[in-house]
Amino acid sequence: MALSGLDIYKLLPKTNCRECGFATCLAFAMALAKKAVSIDKCPYILPESKEKLEASSLPPIKLVSIGDGDPQLQIGNETVMFRHEEKFHHPCGLGFIIDDNLTDTQIAQKIDKINGLKFERVGQQLNVNIIAIKQNGAAARFIEAVKMVSAKTQLALVLMGRDEGALRGALELTAPKKPLVYCASKENLASIAKLSVEFKVPLVIYAASLDTLSELTQEANKAGAGDLVLDTGVKPLAQKIWDLTQIRRQALKKSQRSLGYPCLVVVDREDPYAEAMEAATYISKYAGIVLIKGTESWEALALLALRQNIYTDPQRPLQIEPKIYAIGRANDKSPVLITTNFSLSYYTVLGEVEASKVPSYIISVDTEGMSVLTAWAAEKFTPDKITDSINKFGLKDTVSHKKLIIPGYVAVMSGELEDKSGWQIIVGPKEAAGIPSFLKNL
Ligand code: SF4
Repeated sequence: MALSGLDIYKLLPKTNCRECGFATCLAFAMALAKKAVSIDKCPYILPESKEKLEASSLPPIKLVSIGDGDPQLQIGNETVMFRHEEKFHHPCGLGFIIDDNLTDTQIAQKIDKINGLKFERVGQQLNVNIIAIKQNGAAARFIEAVKMVSAKTQLALVLMGRDEGALRGALELTAPKKPLVYCASKENLASIAKLSVEFKVPLVIYAASLDTLSELTQEANKAGAGDLVLDTGVKPLAQKIWDLTQIRRQALKKSQRSLGYPCLVVVDREDPYAEAMEAATYISKYAGIVLIKGTESWEALALLALRQNIYTDPQRPLQIEPKIYAIGRANDKSPVLITTNFSLSYYTVLGEVEASKVPSYIISVDTEGMSVLTAWAAEKFTPDKITDSINKFGLKDTVSHKKLIIPGYVAVMSGELEDKSGWQIIVGPKEAAGIPSFLKNL
């Protein structure tokens, strides 16, 4: 837990020698608490005090990096229980388990399908992150499957080997890609932690109970393995949520360093709908990685859209640049639709304009990322604001007519907007879904 300025002051020499550049030790302590200065500026601090101060400045949940891709998957370093308190920082990695007992052709087909799971939503690229290769039989086949997957994907890898020999063989092929090793348990902790240290790769620690998990992470630390991910195994949904919540709570609220690591969850369901619902629950609370079997795009898109929503900053709505957007081969006679710069509003309108196949312009007015009705209620989407925007963007030089289409929900402003802007106002449909027929009949 972060120390207050007074807590830090108690650990300082209190001689006010000024060598740190501050007039007093208390002033230095206050600056340290604000992270405005480094602890090394005080040459007289005792080693044990320094250790305490350094420990207090570590993140409560360790940041763990997996893979060598761009971007690399980074999980952990979360600071709050609830998204509205601040934000969640490192989006949960979504991955897929490939069993090594599939044929080579089946594995290749699966990898191609997973590599193709890329989507764009409200202007952001949504990608899956990981492929986990699971050993079902002989070590040789596992290593062969790992080699095949590694050659065909840029995604991060999880090596789900059954024993040290299989994992060593797989690591000899893939260590530079920084795969996640799965897993060290009570039975094999020493040997698997040694592999993690030798190959400098992150490691999953498995135990069904949190107490055992806590003991094992401390043992792994003593063995030199520090980049850890926690797994409490496949359990009924309610129990698993309890585990994930307790791990997060212990790390954040009780400063329990031995549980201060991100968690991995394996969803073991045959029914794809049940799998999607369970995975969605873990993405919401509090998995760092969720591994599923289903590779259908509907399932991946639903989970990635959920993840996108959870990991956006609740204080800062997704916004697009306020300006005039030409859609299709828009020319000076094309209709002009007005909306806000809230990403979801803009992209919903864009999708319908594209569906109409009527080349058009969309003007996104700067409403600080608020949607149409919210912005109107907050007086951010007003006749004055819209008039300023069309003047600033030079709309009169873009089209040869003087007609604007406003959302049906703000029809009430049409008269005032017409007076203020001097443009003829046409009230469009309330719902974006009505735009295609509206534009075709305009
Ligand atoms: Fe206090 Fe250390 Fe600064 Fe001297 S250098 S004033 S002892 S904090």
